[in-house]
Amino acid sequence: MIIAIDGPAASGKGTLARRIASHFHLAHLDTGSLYRAVARDIRRHGGSLEDASEAAEMARRLDAETLSDPGLRDPGVGDAASIVAKFPEVREALHEFQRDFALQKSGAVLDGRDIGSVVLPDAHVKIFVVADVEVRARRRYSELLTRGEPVTFEGVLQSIKGRDDRDMNRSTSPMKPAADAHLLDTTKLDIEAAFDAAVRLITRKIGQQGCP
Ligand code: C5P
Repeated sequence: MIIAIDGPAASGKGTLARRIASHFHLAHLDTGSLYRAVARDIRRHGGSLEDASEAAEMARRLDAETLSDPGLRDPGVGDAASIVAKFPEVREALHEFQRDFALQKSGAVLDGRDIGSVVLPDAHVKIFVVADVEVRARRRYSELLTRGEPVTFEGVLQSIKGRDDRDMNRSTSPMKPAADAHLLDTTKLDIEAAFDAAVRLITRKIGQQGCP
């Protein structure tokens, strides 16, 4: 079984994807970490995030062993990732990695922006998670404060709005729900309620399709 979970920053899709993977015994890939790792590697080499050919080279040379680097979650890395994510050559290199990951026997859950629409259009279940932008900013703000990051709510809100804008308006693989995706609005849901809703949806879909 392959499950695609897409949605904007801080919509809850990452936590949801991890919980769903563990519940259904599926492998999980946070595809945002790939774009974040490319941005991190460019910065480490003192390069420019706006240099498409350097970004593509970093994407092709990406070391999968470095995807659990906690530094990928630092504030600013998500914004940098959304800059390199606009280059078609970067996306092409990372799409290959994601499709290979989805082939594994156990089945897989992939979360990102374009999994259901572009990377895995034949996924058995597609969920597009949405939430009000202020609620998303509040969640990310609390998460960063807990980590001791010196952030302001206004700064986090502006960063999320900027990222939404870049992710929705780029010409290659813009963030959008696939035509057959189920929308899950988590604005008024905590993680338990969102998880229950997603499990109900997946179980119903598996029952209808009889998929593995
Ligand atoms: O999901 P996360 O916030 O970690 O993603 C960081 C950035 O990577 C996103 O803002 C987006 O620009 C890019 N991304 C993407 N396609 C994906 C996953 C992430 O363009 N499938």
